[in-house]
Amino acid sequence: MVLNAVDAAERGAVIRTRTRLIRADRAADIWQLALNARGHREVVTARALVNAAGPWVPETADHLLREKSSAQKSSRHVRLIKGSHIIVPRLHDGDHAFILQNKDNRIVFVIPYERAFSLIGTTDIAVDEGEAPVCTPEETAYLCELASHYMAMPVRPQDVVWTYSGVRPLFDDGDDDPSAVTRDYHLEVDAPQGAAPLLSVFGGKITTYRRLAEHALEDLRKFYPRMGGSWTAGKPLIDGEFADAPTFEEAFDRFVASAASLKPQLAHDLVRTLARRHGTGLDDLLDGVRTVADLGRYFGGHLYEAEVRYLMRDEWASEPDDVLWRRTKEGLHMTPAERQAFAQWMQGLRPNG
Ligand SMILES: Cc1cc2nc3c(=O)[nH]c(=O)nc-3n(C[C@H](O)[C@H](O)[C@H](O)COP(=O)(O)OP(=O)(O)OC[C@H]3O[C@@H](n4cnc5c(N)ncnc54)[C@H](O)[C@@H]3O)c2cc1C
Repeated sequence: MVLNAVDAAERGAVIRTRTRLIRADRAADIWQLALNARGHREVVTARALVNAAGPWVPETADHLLREKSSAQKSSRHVRLIKGSHIIVPRLHDGDHAFILQNKDNRIVFVIPYERAFSLIGTTDIAVDEGEAPVCTPEETAYLCELASHYMAMPVRPQDVVWTYSGVRPLFDDGDDDPSAVTRDYHLEVDAPQGAAPLLSVFGGKITTYRRLAEHALEDLRKFYPRMGGSWTAGKPLIDGEFADAPTFEEAFDRFVASAASLKPQLAHDLVRTLARRHGTGLDDLLDGVRTVADLGRYFGGHLYEAEVRYLMRDEWASEPDDVLWRRTKEGLHMTPAERQAFAQWMQGLRPNG
């Protein structure tokens, strides 16, 4: 998702990570927005506001629409459903995934993950809030049991090397079964006569995010009469414009082969891993790099200083976890001691670190 922010920034957007909207006031046709960025407060103005706060959409919408009666508020539109994943050492060869059918009518995926691992997920658990979800032992047991039923090797909780969870803010279509609640999105525009609009996004999926975004802009078009038409449907993500080839895999393989031939002193495996993470951004990342020594300090896995600095400069990485677990998953390939040493090093880069 960070690539969308990079793309938007290149087109003139101002991206503010780690910045919380703490208050919004509608002054006729303008929103006045109070922001808090790590204690630094600021007020900005906007002609329209899009509430795409994920699991926090309802509370943000209710907060923003505080002048409305509770009957008109939006909380009723969302069901929060936690989904957890477990990561185990690789269970099968090949690039294909498995879809496992469970007795409870749910399906679970087993997907090749990060070279040496398999990802198994997810669960569907109704929760009351979106804050800091974690994978419980019961969820781990559920996923292990189902995978063990189908895979050649048993999958045991003690094999799990990492877990992560997220909360889906699903649009509430009234279905009692969390797995059956629609994964479709719902957009709601609040725009009293002459007032600046608020558009709230309920539900959605990564696979349909561009359709959702185009739809959202369509809904806002009347407030921006000079807005251009939709253009994202056929546009590759930034750093994803590879030369033409019959399939994406072939285009990617050719790109890696070409990049590796230009950097013969770097391990092919490393070039491939970096190309998977950065696409054509690799040219920029490896600009001026000839040997492995030019990549700077080595932290473990496939993580080198040159990539960390690239992530900090171009992709707003500011905390060790942004690098280890969010922009990359190299944390999986590093020992706890390596992760700690990396965190200390990165924190030392801060002016007051
Ligand atoms: C377990 C799970 C499995 C999924 N599987 C799939 C899948 O297989 N395929 C698929 O297509 N999609 C899947 N999805 C859905 C997909 O992840 C989401 O649709 C997508 O992440 C939504 O992105 P978003 O940017 O709209 O919301 P989010 O990623 O939720 O981001 C919302 C952001 O708003 C910020 N925010 C909240 N309040 C404030 C505030 N007051 N001020 C400033 N910022 C605020 C939050 O910090 C957060 O960063 C899955 C989701 C989960 C949880």
